[in-house]
Amino acid sequence: MAQNSTPTSWRQKPIKQAPAYPDQAALAAAEKKLATYPPLVFAGEARRLKKAHANVADGNGFLRQGGDSAESFAEHGADTIRDFFRAFLQMAVVLTFGAQLPVVKVGRIAGQFAKPRSSDFERQGDVELPSYRGDIINGIDFTEESRVPDPHRQLMAYRQSAATLNLLRAFAMGGYANLENVHQWMLGFVKDSPQAERYRKLADRISETMDFMKAVGITAETNASLRETDFFTSHEALLLGYEEALTRVDSTSGDHYATSGHMIWIGDRTRQADHAHIEYCRGIKNPLGLKCGPSLQADDLLTLIDILNPQNEAGRLTLICRFGHDKVADHLPRLIRAVEREGRKVVWSCDPMHGNTITLNHYKTRPFDRVLSEVESFFQIHRAEGSHPGGIHIEMTGNDVTECTGGARAVSAEDLQDRYHTHCDPRLNADQALELAFLLAERMKGGRDEKRLRSVGA
Ligand code: PEP
Repeated sequence: MAQNSTPTSWRQKPIKQAPAYPDQAALAAAEKKLATYPPLVFAGEARRLKKAHANVADGNGFLRQGGDSAESFAEHGADTIRDFFRAFLQMAVVLTFGAQLPVVKVGRIAGQFAKPRSSDFERQGDVELPSYRGDIINGIDFTEESRVPDPHRQLMAYRQSAATLNLLRAFAMGGYANLENVHQWMLGFVKDSPQAERYRKLADRISETMDFMKAVGITAETNASLRETDFFTSHEALLLGYEEALTRVDSTSGDHYATSGHMIWIGDRTRQADHAHIEYCRGIKNPLGLKCGPSLQADDLLTLIDILNPQNEAGRLTLICRFGHDKVADHLPRLIRAVEREGRKVVWSCDPMHGNTITLNHYKTRPFDRVLSEVESFFQIHRAEGSHPGGIHIEMTGNDVTECTGGARAVSAEDLQDRYHTHCDPRLNADQALELAFLLAERMKGGRDEKRLRSVGA
């Protein structure tokens, strides 16, 4: 029988991707200070998100998770947050219409600062320095001084997360997320898109639905669910000292919750069953994500599910699959079959970003057609296996960056240098993200039509 996990028991386990802080006293002081700061989210909200995820696990919802690859101190500002939220909401509306299901909105934001790295070192010419691990740990400048892990950065990340979350809550509840606004923005996107003709049909159907609702008296003025929205935050729980400092006991249940964000996930590089990240995550009650890459064996996945969700609680665990467009068909079916055979309740989500990274002209990028292809395969495979394709997880920004190639306003390999602003991995820009939503909504509608025809025996 496994011993209970406590917020500190991860410290007794082997750990991957941990920064080597040179000043341990300064680290301890920063963590001590953080532990006195107010929680960023509270347990009741995390429970509400878990309930929404449980609906998704049961096939009655769709999870739309996305945001920055790595939030940065330099890009922090009201306009960046607003533009992200605006693009995110437009995607959510299109997906809601496509899926005809409630869409659970979870941002990679207000805490997504720490990044796992494939290599501990980065080389430029003859110089080799420790890798950049995200603004919460060290600086991106390629200098010896900047790359030293600095514990004070954790306090800065906390404050930035608090400010970001504050604005997001205001946007979500204060009128900005009004469905009528989001609909108008979406129509603006469609009008200006080189693919306008293709998207207009779906956009027109959304407009008709809005007009119908207005005609029967359902408007943002009369109905709170049209002027407000539920929006949750998430990040990779990589920096465990930070997570521990923000772990609190919920006074109503007596359980431990991570209060750094509503949902946290375990990365593909840190999911070893007997290691620190799994030890920490099994002890908190938030909804969890687990990244599943090509090296994950079905038996190991079942072991991890047992550890992270021993009660088989629907909504507790989301499997975020990130295989690559050319590998998803080799790996996803075997995992789905094992999970279904054992009757484990999970949300299946597709991250089409992390298995599709290539280098072009010295820039890390992701071709839009490969991103789309992985999501399409994900849907087809779930349809064939009879399981629910429950969500997507993407790295995106609301800004007009040139980081991923392709899309309707094709970003070429030569364009990458123009506005390549990411602090870590390449993100879809606002147009590419919305385009992905439209293309997915088309596929979802196709799937629903097929199902309807089958159910009437046609
Ligand atoms: C990420 O989502 O930021 C990430 C690094 O993903 P993965 O663990 O799947 O590589």
